[in-house]
Parts: sequence; structure tokens; C-alpha cells
Amino acid sequence: MEAGLSQSAVANALTLSQAAISQIEAGRRSPRVDELASLSNLLSRELDYFLIPMRGQEQVLGMTFRAATAELPLPDLQQALTRFIDEIEAQPHPDPQLVIDAVDPEEAARETLRGTSQDSVPVNVKAIARKLGVGFFLRPFPDALSAFLLRGEGRAVIGVNSNQPPVRQRFSAAHECGHFVLRHADESTFDYAVPATSDGEPPGYDWQNERDANTYAAELLMPADRLCQDAATTSLPRLARRYEVSQEAMSFRLQNLGLRAA
Ligand SMILES: [Zn+2]
Repeated sequence: MEAGLSQSAVANALTLSQAAISQIEAGRRSPRVDELASLSNLLSRELDYFLIPMRGQEQVLGMTFRAATAELPLPDLQQALTRFIDEIEAQPHPDPQLVIDAVDPEEAARETLRGTSQDSVPVNVKAIARKLGVGFFLRPFPDALSAFLLRGEGRAVIGVNSNQPPVRQRFSAAHECGHFVLRHADESTFDYAVPATSDGEPPGYDWQNERDANTYAAELLMPADRLCQDAATTSLPRLARRYEVSQEAMSFRLQNLGLRAA
């Protein structure tokens, strides 16, 4: 630690043992993703200082991750990202065809659908991302990593884990589009999705951004006006298939809208 913080102060902030901090400092153990975010906040460092061995001119300014943090050791994440950046560097990048002004997540999703002429379901998330000027890449990542958004100078890319079920890929991609549109990655920020655990949320977790990205994704994939009509006559499994979302996501959406499938 070079920021003049004692090990016990760092350990307190992280709810980590001093022994664990010593191991991280000594290089015997890598911090997990959630620990890393807190470390970065605490030390007021750019996260990518820790995360990505930066090469070339393209500096990553912002990133968001959708991951089961406790299960994703830093070296695995680092390797996945490094390989990903290597692979996509030479790829052509889409020009943005629209900029979303709305700041409310649901309104932003509706504006996105209108602006990309997506007026039927299932919506094409990949086409939406590209019209937003966001590169979209399906690649195999470690199991715990669902998707991420990297934003550099004049360029943004979404990586989605091709090993996960298509419905999950779609929701993760829509969620990351939400982070992009709502400008959650405009600065070097780090936010990560964790499954509900008995431990509660890791320190530094930004509920509001995560909730907003999920709200955006839900309205993007399951637009309320259309779903209100469909739900009256269609069963849950059929709705899920029609919108290409998981039955769980559809069920949750129907509840939130005060609807039930036929
Ligand atoms: Zn997120």
C-alpha cells in the first residue's frame, strides 16, 4: 500500500482480515473483484491501474462488470480482459447513430427502442448496441463473468459471455447497454453485480446504478405497453419464449408491472 494507509485501516474498510491484506500486499493472494473495487476507492486510484496492463493509446476510462464477484479471482478476470482487448483491437468499430438524452432508465429504454426502430419482439440487442456506437462481442469468459462494458476514448465495447444461455446473454447485454446509455461508465468507475448472498453487499457496491441498468434492460427487452397487451392472452412460458428472456425474468417483470400471464 503506497497511499499511507495502515493495514488495519484498509482491512477495516474492506472487512478483510489483516492477514489477508498482508497476503495481497506480499503478492501471495490476489484481491477478489469486490475487494479490488473497495481498494481502488480507498486509495483513490484508477481501477485500471490494478486491472488492465494498458497498452497503446487506447486508454480505458470506464468499465462496468456483471459478475459473481466472490467466484471470480482477479487473475482470471485480468486474463479474460487482456485476451478480449487483444482480439477486438483490430475489429472495426460502429459509428453511433443516435445519442440517448433521457436520464430516467425506463424513458431511456423507450427512447432507445424508438431511435433504433425496434418495434417488434424479440428486440435485437446486438443491433441496438451497434446503433448506439457500442461494439458487441460474444466471447467465452470464465463462468462467473456474465458481461462487461469498457469505455475508452471515443469507443465503447460490450463483451458478453458466450458460454451462458442465450436469454442470459441478452439480459446481460441489455444491462450493459443501460450502463452505457445512462453514462455509468463515463468516468473510471467500477460497479459489479453480485448474486444475493447472506453476507450482504460488498463495500462500495452501487445499488442505484445496478437497479437503473436492470430497469433499463427490463423495459428494453419487455416493453411495458406491448407486454400489457400480450400478458392478457399468453402464458408465462410462451411470453418468455416470445420476448427471448428467461421465465424468471418474465415472471419478475410481470409482477413489477402488476400483471399476470394468462
Ligand atoms: Zn451492472
